[in-house]
Parts: sequence; structure tokens; C-alpha cells
Amino acid sequence: MIISMMENATEEQIAHVIARVEELGYKPQVTRGEEKTIVAAVGTGRRDELEALSAAPGVERLIPIAHPFKLVARQGRTARTVVSVGGVRIGGEDIVMIAGPCSVESRDQLFQTAHAVRDAGASMLRGGAYKPRTSPYEFQGLGLDALKLLREASDETGLPVVTEVLGTDDVDLVAEYADMLQIGARNMQNFSLLRRVAKCSRPVMLKRGPSATVKEWMLAAEYLIAGGNPNIVLCERGVKSWDPETRNLFDLASLALARQLSHLPVIADPSHGTGRRDLIPVMSRAAIAAGADGIMVEVHPCPERALSDGPQSLEPQQFAELVRDLFTPARKLAAPLPRIAPNSYRTAAERTLGD
Ligand code: PEP
Ligand code: MN
Repeated sequence: MIISMMENATEEQIAHVIARVEELGYKPQVTRGEEKTIVAAVGTGRRDELEALSAAPGVERLIPIAHPFKLVARQGRTARTVVSVGGVRIGGEDIVMIAGPCSVESRDQLFQTAHAVRDAGASMLRGGAYKPRTSPYEFQGLGLDALKLLREASDETGLPVVTEVLGTDDVDLVAEYADMLQIGARNMQNFSLLRRVAKCSRPVMLKRGPSATVKEWMLAAEYLIAGGNPNIVLCERGVKSWDPETRNLFDLASLALARQLSHLPVIADPSHGTGRRDLIPVMSRAAIAAGADGIMVEVHPCPERALSDGPQSLEPQQFAELVRDLFTPARKLAAPLPRIAPNSYRTAAERTLGD
């Protein structure tokens, strides 16, 4: 942290800041310029108290150098983290496809979807048992019955399963049935849930809150790692915007930034990110280009009958096409490479000669 003193700061004020920096466990390094003095607080100490120095007399402002999310930050690390979920590696060389219904609605619906997505190439299954719904009158999920079905479908297909845990009371139960716990967007800053899930041995997918800044998202992940759970995967799922044409603003710049700032794997969820099934293929390609370690999409055997998120759910056949388009080399090569527009610069002589 750099503490920049005001131009008219007195010697006494500077000495006070230096003493306080030492008291808080940092090494002060003082640079006296012609106009002002700056004090660098080097090392680690009581950061929150250091931040309070912005209120000390003679202090102009504090300029942070290191990120406040030390355990999540990529700074100072050579390797990215790979999170293993029931043998599936997220954050390694391969792009992980996670697919399944928004909500588990019945045995038939789940098993049909699980087999279809497995056959199409998915490496993990998703499905909601406890649903965070805007209205209390909407389908809330089948709870424990859904957890049991998810476990059975996972065992039968061999796909590890991720499902959302809504509250602290359900953590042990969900962890008993699921291979990975999802902390949903609406709960990203539910600090008691973060602290509770940090104590759990299952890997966690932490979705970005609908109005969370990237820094808040990183700090939510910091709660999990600081609390004892290092197996965290971030998930960009879009943020609130003003435009009702898309459900959310799928923020791929923040996905790319999250991968720059953090060593954790980052998954993209274009289903919630756009709310529109027609945009999922193109936005999946864009997410991979932006560095996503995987894609999570909603798939339903009959989206028009889905109890939640039908409009953004792919039919199994559409999911198979998506996987084929994303990963089949022949198809990839067949797609034309983008062409660069010809540079129209011509010298004055060329311009007089005309075309
Ligand atoms: C979900 O994955 O079904 C879900 C509810 O997601 P989000 O928390 O991103 O809204
Ligand atoms: Mn959903």
C-alpha cells in the first residue's frame, strides 16, 4: 500500500503515519519528493487498520498495490488451479461441458436428459433440487427427492453432478448427494453460507452475483478459500442490464478479467447469461475464445414444458449440435476464417492513377 501525504503535511503528521505503519506490522519505506512525501507500507500486516489511515491528518490518499484477495489472486503464483470433480478436471487443458435441466422435475425428465447429454459429450451433469425463484408461487424444486435422483443419474451415467445449495441448513445434505456444490448468483454475498460451505469437503462452483463487481466476486471466493476450501470454480452468468431483450448482460470481459486476476478456473453460463437459446452457440464460442475453462448450459427434453427456464434451455439435439460445432475439427476447419478488410491506404501517385 502506498500512502501519499498532502503537499502541506507536517513533519509530525508524516512521523505519525510512519509510526502507525510499523505498529500495524508493515515496513515503512519513505520517499521524500520535492512537493510531497510518500510512505510505502511493505509486507503483510493488519490491512483493514492500515486502510483506516486514509482518515489520518496530512494523508492525501491510499493507493493499493496488492489485491485484497490474496488467496484467490494470481499474483505471485506460477500455476493455475485445476479443480477435480469426481475425476473431471476443471481448469486443465480441456474445456468441460456441464449440462442438464434447470430444475429436476421427474425421474424421466432427468434420466432422459442425463443420458442425452452424456452421449453428446458432456462431462458433468447439472440440475436444481432447491431453486432460488423470484416468486414464492413458482416451482421451488423437489428438494431431497431431486437430490436422490441426481445421485442415481450421476451413478448411472458416470457424470459427476453439480447442484445448488440454497441455505446453510442444507449444506451437509446436498454434500452427501452431489459431487460439487453450487452457490447461486443470488447467494454470492451470503456470508454465512460462504463460511459454512468453506467447511465442506466438496468442490464449489461460485456464480457471480447479478450486480456484483469483479472484485466482490473475487472476495466472495476468498471467503471460501480462507475458510478452508481451496477447490473453487468461478462461474460468469451475466449481470443485470437495462435491456429486456436479453435476460442478463453476459459479461465476457469480466470472465477474461477474472482469469487474469485469479488462478481459479472460470466457467461460462450462457443460458442464464443471455436467457435465449438462440444465442447459446455463438456465446459459447465467444466464452471459449475469452478463456473459459468450461461451459454450463441448461438442457430439457421438452423446453416448452419446463417448470423453470424453458426459453433458455436447449433440446438434447441442439446440445449435441453445440458440442459438435464447438469441438469437431472438420466442422471447425469448414468454418471460414475471418477475413481482414483490405488496407485502403494508397499513395498520392496511386490515387491520381485511379484503380
Ligand atoms: C441455475 O443455475 O439454475 C441458477 C439458478 O443460476 P443463477 O444462480 O446463476 O441464477
Ligand atoms: Mn436456471
